Amino acid sequence: MKRIVQVLAVVVLFTLSVNAQDKKLKVYISADMEGVAGVSTWSVQGLPPGREYEQFRHLMTNEVNAAIQGAYDAGATEVLVSDGHGDAQNLDVEKLDSRARLIRAWPRPLQMMQGIDSSFEAVVFIGYHAGEGEADAVLAHTFSGKETIKLNGQTVPEAGFNAAVAGEFGVPVVFVSGDQTIVADAKRMFGNIEGAVVKQATGFASATMLSPEESRRLIREGVKRGIERRKEITPLKLSHPIKLEMTFKDIVLAEVASYLPGVERVNGNTILFTGRDMIEVSRFHSAVANLRP
Ligand SMILES: [Zn+2]
Repeated sequence: MKRIVQVLAVVVLFTLSVNAQDKKLKVYISADMEGVAGVSTWSVQGLPPGREYEQFRHLMTNEVNAAIQGAYDAGATEVLVSDGHGDAQNLDVEKLDSRARLIRAWPRPLQMMQGIDSSFEAVVFIGYHAGEGEADAVLAHTFSGKETIKLNGQTVPEAGFNAAVAGEFGVPVVFVSGDQTIVADAKRMFGNIEGAVVKQATGFASATMLSPEESRRLIREGVKRGIERRKEITPLKLSHPIKLEMTFKDIVLAEVASYLPGVERVNGNTILFTGRDMIEVSRFHSAVANLRP
């Protein structure tokens, strides 16, 4: 009998250790640039050939590296990063933490969330910004900057759209960095998540900045806490089917998009598409965003 107990104990210990080794913790990082510390203009910092663009793509890479480090501090075993700014070719492939994998360039059906699926446990937003028309927000715009978006009747910034894509797979957003407005928006939309305010917007193109070093410290620590608290945070799941309303500044874009079957013209500038889920909605948005009438 004693012998059987000993054998059973060995089997149990072996199984536990195998399970511990198998335990994966996959983290998805979606990165933008407008919310990176130091950025407040597209012309000088945010887009090539801006005078400081090369420096600021380096600073964006450093903030993403701080987030990757925070994820590994929290026990991550895999990190997937998506570059989601401009032409999506900003992060420096040589300087990015070599433990991560990187998705670059457009177009992609899931846009800033390409590659997310139900095998991930947490999503992190770095360098994010508020939506089109929001006040006290650096470079506030939504996706192309030519549109505003509603999902099931609610106006959402990119963060809301992207969190709903992750929510489709049951994955919560646990952390966001950017100015005070997008961090407040994210907490209102997603509940008690972690955030790092790396700048206080004083207008569309000006802000009081934290230093890059201090910003990286807040990001690393906040990402770690967010991932550790992931089970407390509810994924953003929208009820199906999902109504996507897009209002375009340019009326011709709404006109051309309304030629597509199943698309309703709500008014001159606004179209309505009803998708089965956020995957269909994102594919539709991505197609329309790439229209060039
Ligand atoms: Zn951007």
